[in-house]
Amino acid sequence: MLAGQPIIILRDNVERTRGFEAQRSNIMATRAIAAAVRTTLGPRGMDKMLVSPSGDVVITNDGAAILHEMSVQHPGGKLVVEVAETQDDEVGDGTTTAIVLLGALMDEAERLLAQKIHPTVIAQGYQLGMDKALEILDDLAITVDFDDKETLKNLADTSMTGKSIEAIKEKVSGIVVDAVQQVATRTNEGTYTVDESDVKIKKQVGETMHDAELIRGVVIEKKRVFEQMPASVTDARVALIAQPLEVTKTQVKSKIKITTSDQMRAFSEQERESLRKLSETIVAAGANVVLCQKGIADAVQYYLAKNGVYAVEDVREEDLKFAARALCGTIVNKPEELDEVTLGHAEIARELPDTELTVISGCDNPKAVTILLRGTSQLLVDELERAVYDGTRVVQDAIEYGKVVAGGGSVETELQMRIHDYATTFGGRVQLAIEAFANTFEVIPKTLAENSGFDPIDKTVALKKVHADGGRYAGLNVYTGEAMDMYEAGVIEPQRVKTQAIKSGTETAMLLIRVDDMMVTQAGETAPMGAE
Ligand code: ADP
Ligand code: MG
Repeated sequence: MLAGQPIIILRDNVERTRGFEAQRSNIMATRAIAAAVRTTLGPRGMDKMLVSPSGDVVITNDGAAILHEMSVQHPGGKLVVEVAETQDDEVGDGTTTAIVLLGALMDEAERLLAQKIHPTVIAQGYQLGMDKALEILDDLAITVDFDDKETLKNLADTSMTGKSIEAIKEKVSGIVVDAVQQVATRTNEGTYTVDESDVKIKKQVGETMHDAELIRGVVIEKKRVFEQMPASVTDARVALIAQPLEVTKTQVKSKIKITTSDQMRAFSEQERESLRKLSETIVAAGANVVLCQKGIADAVQYYLAKNGVYAVEDVREEDLKFAARALCGTIVNKPEELDEVTLGHAEIARELPDTELTVISGCDNPKAVTILLRGTSQLLVDELERAVYDGTRVVQDAIEYGKVVAGGGSVETELQMRIHDYATTFGGRVQLAIEAFANTFEVIPKTLAENSGFDPIDKTVALKKVHADGGRYAGLNVYTGEAMDMYEAGVIEPQRVKTQAIKSGTETAMLLIRVDDMMVTQAGETAPMGAE
């Protein structure tokens, strides 16, 4: 081999960063993202306003939503965004917490790297710290029963505080708990499962947000198909039909060949006749409401209206399926299949005045329910929706896993102190890494204090003092600045939210600090299009 001759193994559109530079690059990206979301943490956190290239505006306090809109470019930064997305998918809350923790873990890692502690040792310490953290969480968690509405409401409250929902929190947390309890199913082992898609959130712009309500049934964003139909029907028996209610063209063609105007008249009479029969079948089956996934022919609309039936056409497939669960009915293809069993039942089906909404409510024991949110602007209802979504997810987490922990920086303080003690049992460099891991938890009470206008150092020191004296549930009262028992204050979160945040934060941090070489291929050098 020729000495001094560089061997080129990468294309020249690949940008390469190596060694400490690569680690630094990821640390900086994580820090930047964490800094962007940390001011939103907690009930007194601020909101972000994000504007997309097309000019759409989003105002939110939700970590996942912020990162979703931020369009992060940095490859390491994308992993951070993924943490938020996973957190949101898995547990539905705690996205800001996960990102802020990850940011702190990377900060601590930078400090350790500067002290020449090898990334492998850091990762080992973080792993040990994480295992210990999960164990401590188990110890701190308290059981919550399925019927414990009070506790479940507190959970929903805690997850929704700080979002624009504040003014109606009390009412909405009640709605959220009722909704999730209603759709939960009991398993043979006596535990509960919830399918999150069984709680649908629908929005209506125009009314005030105090009019939020739980609908034991379904809301469809469509009016009745024909003005002559009744605007409301009580004791609703709902036909759920997947196929169009009309005579298909091919059907007609194969039947008759039209040559004269008499035949034409006969033909349309025949068509009218079969459409009338179609309508009669529906009415005879006892239906007084029709939800049809496809179109409804004019003649059918006319006959249905004459019989006092309320009908909606072109209902989205998703809505029809949801209606089947909410109304305890079955979707059919043909009106002939309608009977007592396939029809859905509800107290009332009606068109909300001055809206495009059909509301079918008052089902006996629905397997799916709808939360109807209202507000004076689209921006507001969108943010309400994110808050209510968080609320339903934490209640679901608690119902499924049955464990909650204290919020307000309480568990984090306890974790910090106990993992610190644990670290001292090791000695050597790994002890430093475990201690660093322990320290990262302080970022939560610290940020909560900061965002509430208190001195972060004073408050975290005070919290630690209370914990040292045995106040294991003490957290920060973000309104007074006092340390107080968070269980008594009702500031609680599902254990699962914390577990997930710690796990994904730590695992991603370990992944990122092990990277010492980044090769980023720039776009534009791909093979020419159309080459066969
Ligand atoms: P995340 O996206 O992580 O859920 P949030 O903005 O919802 O972020 O803030 C969650 C944090 O706020 C948690 O640590 C929680 O314990 C804390 N928190 C919520 N309500 C209160 C409260 N009333 N008092 C003190 N801390 C609270
Ligand atoms: Mg939250």
